[in-house]
Amino acid sequence: MKPKKKDIRALTKEQLRNFFVANGDKAFRGNQVYEWLWGKVVHSFEDMTNISIATREMLQENFVINHIEVDNIQRSKDGTVKNAVRLHDGLVVESVLIPTDTRTTACVSSQVGCSLDCKFCATSRLKRMRNLNPDEIYDQVAAINKESLLYYNHKLSNIVFMGMGEPLMNYNNVIKAIDMITSPEGLGMSPKRIMVSTSGVPKMIKKLADDGVKFKLAVSLHSAIDEIRSRIMPFSENFPLADLREALEYWYRKTKSKISYEYVVWKGINDDKASVDALVKFCKYVPCKVNLIEYNPIDDGEFQQASEEAIAAYIKGLEAIGVVVKVRRSRGKDIDAACGQLANKS
Ligand code: SAH
Repeated sequence: MKPKKKDIRALTKEQLRNFFVANGDKAFRGNQVYEWLWGKVVHSFEDMTNISIATREMLQENFVINHIEVDNIQRSKDGTVKNAVRLHDGLVVESVLIPTDTRTTACVSSQVGCSLDCKFCATSRLKRMRNLNPDEIYDQVAAINKESLLYYNHKLSNIVFMGMGEPLMNYNNVIKAIDMITSPEGLGMSPKRIMVSTSGVPKMIKKLADDGVKFKLAVSLHSAIDEIRSRIMPFSENFPLADLREALEYWYRKTKSKISYEYVVWKGINDDKASVDALVKFCKYVPCKVNLIEYNPIDDGEFQQASEEAIAAYIKGLEAIGVVVKVRRSRGKDIDAACGQLANKS
């Protein structure tokens, strides 16, 4: 049996240049092919029109381009677009384009399913099948960039890693994808317009800081009381808030970049005064902002959006200590594209 062909985008530019030299061609050919693969995001060797037919056939014999296929596009009445993205092995993830008056944001997935078990999130009910490769993450962004141009007449302005999966449990591939997204040879986007959202894995947050990343960090906090947090996010039992706090302090010392806390307020879970006080206290440790996210119901009602008064109590408490709070309305709810709703339903 012939050995399985390698995904050509697993090669660095240097490796691609070396491949051509080893095959009696010029290293420069590697640059040209690299440009087709990442800059122009072609899906077949045939499309590389400035490469000779013989060379294209030689590439075809040695490699595959494991590109994604956008299988199904759903458009919400609020303009949000959801892509069902089929991977080369048939698995499916979802990504979302969220337009506002001033920007378009891509919300992308980092894993097929999720490693974690947050009880309020639909994705957690899918088993984690595998991590996405750097090119699969990159392709989601490139696809949404195209849609942004097509539907909204301007380029993608922001990216959030808030789709399916826990980005810090697929650390290396997420970092490689972001490197390409921000590289002038890729999409050339500014890292300041990229936000990676984590449920809070302290060790990996420290690693981000050590690696000197330039993108922004969001932490899905949802409670600043260990007992409540580990009830709604069971994995966090292994990552107590004291450890998370320590990692975030470390992050801020090294990066000087504010943290965004993502927080949903639920009836009977974290809508009491003790929860507000705990969050206010937690927010004093590291410079931060808070996004109060509207809850997107995923089931029978163990979790329900808290009252306006409960939200107001949070806003009041946080503003009193000078923390900027934003209440974020759901987008794309009618097509199951909002936070926590990505579950490959269609
Ligand atoms: N694993 C990462 C990124 C994916 S979740 C993380 O946890 O940050 C993206 C955001 O949606 C997180 O803040 C998550 O807590 C939130 N979320 C999950 N389920 C939700 C739901 N049903 N309604 C509202 N937000 C939800």
